[in-house]
Amino acid sequence: MSKELQSKTAVVTGAARGIGRAICMELAGRGANIVGVDLLADPLKSTVSELGDLGVKAVAKVVDVTDGPAMRQLGDEVVGEFGGIDIMVNNAGITRDTLLLSMDDEQWDLVIRVNLRGVYLGTQMAGKAMLRARSGRIINIASVSGVMGNRGQANYAASKAGVIGLTKSAAKELGKRGITCNAIAPGFIATDMTGVLPDQVKEAVKPLIPLQRFGTAEEVAGVVAFLAGPGASYITGQVIQVDGGLRM
Ligand code: NAP
Repeated sequence: MSKELQSKTAVVTGAARGIGRAICMELAGRGANIVGVDLLADPLKSTVSELGDLGVKAVAKVVDVTDGPAMRQLGDEVVGEFGGIDIMVNNAGITRDTLLLSMDDEQWDLVIRVNLRGVYLGTQMAGKAMLRARSGRIINIASVSGVMGNRGQANYAASKAGVIGLTKSAAKELGKRGITCNAIAPGFIATDMTGVLPDQVKEAVKPLIPLQRFGTAEEVAGVVAFLAGPGASYITGQVIQVDGGLRM
């Protein structure tokens, strides 16, 4: 694999498992040093130790992406330890699915807090670090739910639509500093998040996907690597759907 990200530093949130873990592996495979951020210390450490086997510098930071002071401290630590942030991937996200009329306030608030406030804090932290270098790539993981809405996901769809608006605003504010900001909107990807769906729901969804299957975390990670790499230098403010054609 080409080492096009050699000596770049990437911060990836939600790095312990699922799509975040695959993103760490893909970026490290292309030579990037990785700062993996997650709430779960043990799986995060196992991801980071595997990254070390790829010959890059990799560190684990146990940080809650919703914690403003902790996220700002994380930015200072990464700049201190690595000299800057080249790539920021705001991937941490959660679901608390239920129909709108039976949703309680906590389910609403928690999903908005992690999925939208978390991306705001990560984008602001990375944007400040990237300003000095006058270059950087911010990649936010949204969802097709944020583009087309989804039954049972009013909180999640609202948070992901918010991520798309935040991404486009950041692209407009930061473009003159050489910083790009793009979003990826995955469809159904096989991870723990979709693993909890009942089998009949999964089977009902597949015929709606032109490619007739769920995607893999690696298929999302490949698009993150493209957006982080030299081939995407003139792309900003975009939402790239990685959904097997589910929404077109
Ligand atoms: P996942 O397997 O549930 O992994 C999410 C990771 O984020 C977990 O390690 C989780 O840690 C971490 N996390 C959650 N809250 C956090 C917080 N406050 N601070 C730091 N880390 C936190 O999910 P995934 O399927 O890989 O999803 C990754 C991203 O893709 C999410 O933004 C999701 O919305 C998006 N996405 C996924 C799909 C899909 O089909 N899977 C589709 C569209 C979009 P804990 O275990 O401690 O919570």
